[in-house]
Amino acid sequence: MPEFQHSPGMRDILPPESGRWRRFQAVFAEVAGAAGYGEIMPPLMEDIGVFQRVGEHTDVVTKEMYDFIDKGERHVALRPEQTASVCRAFAQHRPITPWKVFYAGPNFRYEKPQRGRYRQFDQVGIEVLGADDPYLDVEVIVLAWEFYLRLGLQQVTLLLNSLGEPQDRANYTAALKDYFEQHLDALSPESRVTLTKNPLRVLDSKRPADAAVLAGAPRIASFYSAEAAAHFEAVQQGLTDLGIPFTLDTSLVRGLDYYRRTTFEFQGGTLDSAQNALGGGGRYDGLVESLGGPPTHGIGFALGLDRTLLACDDEGVFAAPPAAVNVFVVDTTGGLEALRITAELRAAGISADRAYENRSMKSQMKGADRSGAPIAIIVGSNEIEAGVVTLRPLRGADVQRPVARGALVTEVIQALEQAAKEATA
Ligand code: AMP
Repeated sequence: MPEFQHSPGMRDILPPESGRWRRFQAVFAEVAGAAGYGEIMPPLMEDIGVFQRVGEHTDVVTKEMYDFIDKGERHVALRPEQTASVCRAFAQHRPITPWKVFYAGPNFRYEKPQRGRYRQFDQVGIEVLGADDPYLDVEVIVLAWEFYLRLGLQQVTLLLNSLGEPQDRANYTAALKDYFEQHLDALSPESRVTLTKNPLRVLDSKRPADAAVLAGAPRIASFYSAEAAAHFEAVQQGLTDLGIPFTLDTSLVRGLDYYRRTTFEFQGGTLDSAQNALGGGGRYDGLVESLGGPPTHGIGFALGLDRTLLACDDEGVFAAPPAAVNVFVVDTTGGLEALRITAELRAAGISADRAYENRSMKSQMKGADRSGAPIAIIVGSNEIEAGVVTLRPLRGADVQRPVARGALVTEVIQALEQAAKEATA
C-alpha cells in the first residue's frame, strides 16, 4: 500500500470514466443551453453564512459541512450544494429577471460514504429566479426529463407534490403535529425525535414501524388555498399536455421553510431505495431575500451524477465513451519520424498517438491495437528510403498500402472516412 490514498468518500475519476463524467455534463449543458439557460460557475467556497441561511436545521448544514477559518480569519465552507450560491450571486449582481442559469460541478458533504453517497460528489442543476409562472415549473421539470431521455434512461419516475402557499403549509404542519402527537405511541423513536424538530419530515420516514400512522395522516391537498390549488392544477395540466408521466406523492415534502408550491423528485426504477433518488427540486421563496436581495421567486433542481450513472449502468445505457484516437504511429527508425508525423496529424485536427522508447515492431503494434485507432501509420527504414509511409487499416478487410509521405494527411483523411463507412455498414 502506498503511504497516501485519497480521503474516505473522495475519489480519483480515472479515464475512461472521466470521459463519461464530462459527457454527462456536456449533455446537460446542451439541454439547458437549448432552453436559454446560461452557465453559472459559483466558487467552491463561500462564507459559511450563505449555506447556514438555507438550511439552519438540516443535517447538511449542521453536521456535514466542511468548514474552517481561513488565513484572513473568515469562517468559510466548501459548498454542500449550489442553490445557496446561485441565490447569493443573484442578490450580489442583480441580473435581469427571469434569470435562468445552470451549473455543474462538485459539492462537499461530510457523510458516511457508501454506494452512491460520497463526500465529494457532482451535481448538475438549474435555477430560475424572478418568475412565478406555473408553466415555468413545467419547463424546469421537462428539462430534467429531457436530460434523462438524452442519457438513454427509460425507467425514471417523476414524483410530484405541492406544498401550497406558506400559510397552507403552516396550517398543514400544525395539523400534522396534532395528529402525530395523538399517535405518539405508534411512532418509531426516531420519528418521535423528528417530530419535535419538523413534523413534515416525519412523512419521509421509510421505517415499517411508522407505516400505519403515516397512512392515516392528514394530506396536504385538503389545505391548499384556491391560488395554490390553481397553480398546482396548471403544473399538472402542462405536464400532461407534454406527455410527461408523473405520480402524485403527498409525502414528498421539503423540510425547509423556503419551499412552497411545486416539489418534485426523480427516482431510478432499478435502484434500491437507499440510492433511488436521482435528483429533485422545487419552488422556493425568501432565499434571495435572506441573502440580502429583493423578494424573489425561485425554482430549480439538482441532479446527482453518481446515482444517475448507477441508474445508467443498471439500464445498460450511456457507457463510458471509448478513448480511441484516429491514428497510431509505429516508427522503428528511432522515433523522430513518429514525432513529426503525430505533430503533423494533430495540427490537421486528426487525433494521433504513438509508441515511445523505440520498442520492437511487435510491441508497438500491440500499442496500436490497444489504442483503438482504426489506422496505423508504419515507418521503417525502407519507407524512409522510398519517401513513403505504410498505411495499415487495423479493422475490416482492407490491406495495407504505401502512401507518399507528402500526401500523408490527405490519405489518412480518406482512409478514416472509409473506416467510418465500414464501421456503420
Ligand atoms: P440534495 O441536494 O440533497 O437534494 O440531493 C440531490 C441529489 O444529489 C440526490 O438525489 C442525489 O442524487 C445527489 N446526492 C446528494 N448527496 C449526495 C452524496 N453525498 N453523494 C452522491 N450523490 C449525492
